[in-house]
Amino acid sequence: MKKILFLSLAFTALTVRAGDYTNSAGVIGYKDSPMLPGGKWHVHDADRPQPVVVTPGTFSTSATPPSDAIVLFDGKDTSQWHDKNGQPSAWKIENGELISTKGSDLISKQEFGDVQLHVEFCMPQPAGEVGQKRNNSGVFFMSKFEIQILDCYQNQTYPDGQTGAIYGQRPPLVNACRPPGQWQTYDATFTTPRFDKDGNVTQPAYLTVFHNGVIVQNHSPILWPTMHKTLGKYTPMPPVSPLKLQDHNNPVHFRNIWVRPLKLETQD
Ligand code: MG
Repeated sequence: MKKILFLSLAFTALTVRAGDYTNSAGVIGYKDSPMLPGGKWHVHDADRPQPVVVTPGTFSTSATPPSDAIVLFDGKDTSQWHDKNGQPSAWKIENGELISTKGSDLISKQEFGDVQLHVEFCMPQPAGEVGQKRNNSGVFFMSKFEIQILDCYQNQTYPDGQTGAIYGQRPPLVNACRPPGQWQTYDATFTTPRFDKDGNVTQPAYLTVFHNGVIVQNHSPILWPTMHKTLGKYTPMPPVSPLKLQDHNNPVHFRNIWVRPLKLETQD
């Protein structure tokens, strides 16, 4: 009996050390991940305060692109994109909507640095699983810096991984999610990290994001290329890279995707 009890305790300890952590509110996250700078929270800490829920208005839904925008998806085709191997994307188009499809992220053929982005997304119904498994995707600037896309309408997860989070780093200011079946928007500006001639980072990347017209990231510094459950660091990178939409094996719908490359130095 003693032996069984010992083995059971040992197994439990191993499970806790190696596995997810669920807090008293049922939020699944981690406690075995490194501490973020500031020393208050682990990466993906389930105990980090949940962003307050805000019901959004109708800002920018179905926004037509400005005259100088590069339209990356207008409901017709994926000619502006390819898969991770440089081949035509397998993402489906139905009723003018682009649907994330298992097999590969969607990678833009054009490369961007400092940029303004508009993208619309819609979560499928029924909502399905919970936490990070409830219809996960994401927008990766320079293929490296993710704004999380997730169905966080009445679905809590670790705050640095919820909709509008800089993944694994910075929760959104509020939770402005719409229910599944309703179109949602991100309007964002991204500025690239800057490096000196020796390759040292002199300025991190920054993100400003409006989710359904509600600001969720306000010129937020990005600590390093976004990672799962770990810390990272900056290493020199080219000034432009493709935009990426994440395939997380969930059928998230997209429409009306456009960007405006920014020439910020013209203001100097
Ligand atoms: Mg994601």
